[in-house]
Amino acid sequence: MTAYPECALAREAEICFANIAMPTDTDVYGLKPVTAEQVVKSMKQNIDNVNKLLFSVIPRVPKERACECKDALKTAQM
Ligand SMILES: [Zn+2]
Repeated sequence: MTAYPECALAREAEICFANIAMPTDTDVYGLKPVTAEQVVKSMKQNIDNVNKLLFSVIPRVPKERACECKDALKTAQM
């Protein structure tokens, strides 16, 4: 539900990390409760969207990392 502890573990392992959120029900903020059918419909749409996103983004990931992730432990404090 959150990105923890995955984000901390990725940082510790010096792995680049990005989180993709797939909300399925927003009834907390809505006027009426969300049904199970609406949640399933949202999840199916989310899966389609994530597939499109990943097929678009993955080819653009550089083969050589220029970000600070690979050296995260050099500046880590204990
Ligand atoms: Zn990175």
